[in-house]
Amino acid sequence: MAGNKPKYRTYNHPAGGWGAAAATAKVLMEQSVVGKGSRALLSMNQPGGFKCPSCAFPDATCTKKLEFCENGAKALAHEATKFRVTRDFFAQHSVTALMDQSDYWLEMQGRLTEPMRYDAVTDHYVPVSWDDAFALIGRHLRALDDPNEAEFYTSGRTANETAFLYSIFVREFGTNNFPDCSNMCHEPTSRGLPHSIGVGKGTVILDDFEHAEAIFLIGHNAGTNAPRMMTPLVEARKRGVPIVAVNPMPERALIKFTEPQDIVQMATFGATEISSEFVHIAIGGDLAFLKGMMKALFEREDAGEAVLDQAFIAEHTAGYAALRDDIAGQNWDEIVAVSGIAEEQIRRCAEIYIRSNATIICYGMGITQHQEGSRLVQQIANLLLLKGNYGRPGAGISPIRGHSNVQGDRTVGIDEKPSAAYLDKVREVFGFEPPRTHGHHTVESIEAMQAGTAKVFIGLGGNFVRAVPDTDRAYAAMRKLKLTVGIATKLNRGHLVHGEDALILPVIARSERIATAKGEQFVTIEDSMSNVTASRGVLDPASEHLLTETEIVCRIAMATLPESRVDWARYIDDYDAIRDRIAAVYPALYEGFSERIKAPMGFHLDIAPRRRVWNTPNGKANFLILPGLHANAPVADLAMLRLATVRSHDQFNTTIYSYNDRYRGVYGDRMILFMNADDIADRGLAAGTKVGVETIGGDGIARRVEGLTIIDYPMSRGSVAGYYPELNPLLPLAFYDRISGCPAAKSIPVRIVASGGAE
Ligand code: SF4
Repeated sequence: MAGNKPKYRTYNHPAGGWGAAAATAKVLMEQSVVGKGSRALLSMNQPGGFKCPSCAFPDATCTKKLEFCENGAKALAHEATKFRVTRDFFAQHSVTALMDQSDYWLEMQGRLTEPMRYDAVTDHYVPVSWDDAFALIGRHLRALDDPNEAEFYTSGRTANETAFLYSIFVREFGTNNFPDCSNMCHEPTSRGLPHSIGVGKGTVILDDFEHAEAIFLIGHNAGTNAPRMMTPLVEARKRGVPIVAVNPMPERALIKFTEPQDIVQMATFGATEISSEFVHIAIGGDLAFLKGMMKALFEREDAGEAVLDQAFIAEHTAGYAALRDDIAGQNWDEIVAVSGIAEEQIRRCAEIYIRSNATIICYGMGITQHQEGSRLVQQIANLLLLKGNYGRPGAGISPIRGHSNVQGDRTVGIDEKPSAAYLDKVREVFGFEPPRTHGHHTVESIEAMQAGTAKVFIGLGGNFVRAVPDTDRAYAAMRKLKLTVGIATKLNRGHLVHGEDALILPVIARSERIATAKGEQFVTIEDSMSNVTASRGVLDPASEHLLTETEIVCRIAMATLPESRVDWARYIDDYDAIRDRIAAVYPALYEGFSERIKAPMGFHLDIAPRRRVWNTPNGKANFLILPGLHANAPVADLAMLRLATVRSHDQFNTTIYSYNDRYRGVYGDRMILFMNADDIADRGLAAGTKVGVETIGGDGIARRVEGLTIIDYPMSRGSVAGYYPELNPLLPLAFYDRISGCPAAKSIPVRIVASGGAE
């Protein structure tokens, strides 16, 4: 933080605990909402209350008085903040001047209060009426030669009702261009897993954690990115359930955690050991580790031990023999070399898996953000199939989603590759012929902007230009557009990197009440475990000029499609009517939606593999092969290190809450590089040295970030880490998983260069 001298010191306390309590109090004070914020927190994730706008971890089935974590409190405090970005603010600050400010500074300015339009003459945003704003958008969209010249982005904060209407509007307009924040996180789950088990979602529900006999956490940092997940993990450990954590970084919460709501632990400064086995994997070594696990299983099976569920395999799966051959073809030396894990430890993990009759495997971006992310997810599915870990309590696959409704948005139509059956249903329910040509995901939308074939960008939430790869090229692409629209609660850089014409449209936040002509309305959210719950705001909107995200979408549609066949005006006021349409388009999932949502804890959507039903083309769960041991194309450069871009503990996606990352011992700095001591020494460097980092790319484009302070951190050998969005300039646009389009942000090949340019 400007002016504070950065400090780096190892954090030896358990995660959670008094640190979490203190951080919660601190953020409420910083945003000057101690009273208002504390009252609102009592309604967060509670029946009748609002859903946390941060991550997508489900609510406990038996409600506790306090059902939020430190990071949920940060998200709420920043939404409920006293600070406001008014027309005077924009009069004082030109866009060019605002571009010089940090992402943190922009976030700290507070809530947007009224619609603003960019004035190129003065380089300032100026007030615009809602009517004029919608008319402007309508004009630009109707002026396009082809609807595919527009890109419609969705952030995972968007509620089901709005996302559904957005998907219908954009399709009636004539395109499937839906770049979506999930493209950058769990898209490999959505695109890879259906080939394995017939669904692109997790099969585990929260109750399963109470029945698990073993839990694997792969490439995920729950203590920061889904903190309430620590509760079922602590309870599992207290039951003696082994937990295997696989990560290139020994994240504090994977080692030790103090449950803030456990009075005894808090009073005695006690803690729970979380991982009974910490697997310090090399970046990109997960495939080799998973195949090593499977190899150990097959060897035990061949030795006459019945470790595999042959009955399940015979009845429910296909492709078993091919998997056996693939695994048989791998040798232990290479598995050890690529994974960075000793054979003994892999065998110990296999033993834990073998002894368990009910295993859950959770995973995050450490699995998905690789060039083979989709097929890596399929290897986790393979491992679980070998012991029939689907369709029984305590077992299954659990992708941990990072944004509150990112899964829900996909379920209700935010999908650039919609199925023919879904499009037929849209035609049947709404009476127009939707476009059949698949649209753009995030990377493709930027390529279209670069090529000049995209001319309009509408951002329903989010901070697109900061979240995507290849920052410099993304900025240049966005600035070529005719119109950019940012629908948001807070000012961010996405509003400053804009097209010829630009609008900022401020929206009512998740924690705020929605009052329409039909009375108070609520929205719905689908969490990581397919539980759909109602969310009712409890705070007054931050400004009288704000509109709901639903009204904004409806009025954009009305301004763009004067002949529309959809009753947009009705949906502005009546959210039950929207839910009835959702039920009409998705009867198998949402039949009786308006009734079922009245249940205090909502309802679970059907997850067919929980019934051992596989909605795959062959009706089976499929063992699928990813040849070899590498999840990314090998790079022949001895100086190469693999870079993972990560969040700090005081960050949610591109929102920066502070410059601290206490669990990793960093205070007041974000321009840092976590590096293994031996890798530092090998390069004749020292902790505290400022260096540059350069991408080893094959496209002839120089990508370099300067001024990074080396932090001596227990990374696995050959692996380094630093924060996004600051390091996104190092991630080439073309460096992504071909099946899903997900940028490979956890395995960027880089080399260290002296700061200021010398090799
Ligand atoms: S675990 Fe996630 S959803 Fe729950 S309160 Fe924390 S940030 Fe919010």
